Amino acid sequence: MLELANYINGKHVPAASRKVLPIIEPATGLQYSTVPDSDAVDVDQAVAAAKTAFPAWSAISSHQRSQHLLRLADLIDANVDALARAESIDTGKPLSLARSIDIPRSAANFRFFATAILHTASELHDFDGGGIPGGVPAINYTLRKPRGVAGLISPWNLPLYLLSWKIAPALATGNAVVCKPSEVTPVTASMLGDLASQAGIPAGVLNVVHGTGGSAGAALVQHDDVPAISFTGSTRVGQWIGEHCGARSKRTSLELGGKNPFIVFADADLPKALETAVRAGFTNQGQVCLCGSRLLLHESIAAEFLKEFVARVAALRIGDPLEPSTQQGALTSEAHFHKVVSMVDQARELGGRVLCGGSPLAKSDLPTRCKSGFFFRPTVIEGLSPSCVVEQEEIFGPVVTVQTFSTDEQAIALANCTRYGLAATLFTQNLSRAHALASQLDAGIVWVNCWMVRDLRTPFGGVKQSGVGREGGLEALKFFTEPKNVCISV
Ligand code: NAD
Repeated sequence: MLELANYINGKHVPAASRKVLPIIEPATGLQYSTVPDSDAVDVDQAVAAAKTAFPAWSAISSHQRSQHLLRLADLIDANVDALARAESIDTGKPLSLARSIDIPRSAANFRFFATAILHTASELHDFDGGGIPGGVPAINYTLRKPRGVAGLISPWNLPLYLLSWKIAPALATGNAVVCKPSEVTPVTASMLGDLASQAGIPAGVLNVVHGTGGSAGAALVQHDDVPAISFTGSTRVGQWIGEHCGARSKRTSLELGGKNPFIVFADADLPKALETAVRAGFTNQGQVCLCGSRLLLHESIAAEFLKEFVARVAALRIGDPLEPSTQQGALTSEAHFHKVVSMVDQARELGGRVLCGGSPLAKSDLPTRCKSGFFFRPTVIEGLSPSCVVEQEEIFGPVVTVQTFSTDEQAIALANCTRYGLAATLFTQNLSRAHALASQLDAGIVWVNCWMVRDLRTPFGGVKQSGVGREGGLEALKFFTEPKNVCISV
């Protein structure tokens, strides 16, 4: 049995209370690890360590910080097999996905921000007095200072990938961090602590405190010595965090849920749209915030497109995540599995027609080791009202619903009819239509004729209830720094 520890001040330590939580392998349903069930006492220790380490870390040159983070990226690459296997066992995702996406992109995140800080400069504004009576010419320059100790809270679907997306810009800009990974998938964050030590990152600069959101997470959010919280997770928790950070005037970045439309027009490259729609719907068993979970089809192509889409979804190979040929693994927790089952049951009650899937995978179809795992068959549902709960609320599982439209206006109305606004995808060969829709869709990210193409320089985040603020590129560098304007009369 693996026994994970917190990583505080460069050391692996248990929770002060010695309490632990069980960690279950989703593919087997069996416990294989424990993780500290930390509380405010452990968070206090981690914040104190980070606060002590901050002055020296922020004072070294950006070149030195860059070197540390590049070493960490190299170490992630060197350990890709071990990290990918750990991520697959912890989350239930196919090993091939962890090996090709999660871990390489974690290394890429560190490399990106390690080099970004070498190429940014302070802003300068040359002021001519503005023509205002008494206005004097001046030069303004804006310094950007690290905020201090940043609290980073992440979810279970892309554990190391999403945490590194926060750690890298925070450390690169000179902050010290306290991370609170998901209590459901804590293993790779623990491994990162070791790699940070090997990379020579000084003790206290990067701390990892495990535990539940209600205990360790809430203590971090409410800690007076943590002026910035970067959170990725559900809209419900994000709203709670937003309220508590607002009351304490903390800087807050909230990356929340999505219910993303995937729109296919009659003039689309249909083979490419089909292949992409299957990936967008079911990558990581549909447990990606960007998944295209609402398929919107032009009525003239709907029947034929849907027939082929369902055939491809039904053919996805579901099984042991550690098998190289597996395309669909297990859902990440038993609680989440039951949520998905309940949403599909509700869809049936609301008149939805299940075109494929719709139930857990039969035990007889699973290898012996996986018979108690949380496997749900990839599911496509049509015939629901766009306003019903299944069409409106995030399922975050292998479930895609289908609607049809006849005009561009209808497509936009359907796409925009939920409280979310994270990502939207559209397939069309008509350039004017693509530009017009891209500007009218309620989404922080619009993909045209592609899905999940990530340029790390671009702003990443959602509108409406999908979030507040943006990550990525300059946005992240700005979030983790405080601007200070200096005005010099000339
Ligand atoms: P969650 O909100 O339940 O938990 C996320 C993290 O917050 C976990 O570490 C959890 O322990 C912690 N937490 C819970 N309550 C807390 C509290 N009161 N104070 C502080 N921390 C607390 O989300 P989840 O179930 O782990 O992840 C799935 C959700 O994440 C989905 O809604 C998905 O859309 C969203 N998500 C969004 C993005 C994005 O970039 N927008 C990316 C991935 C996942």
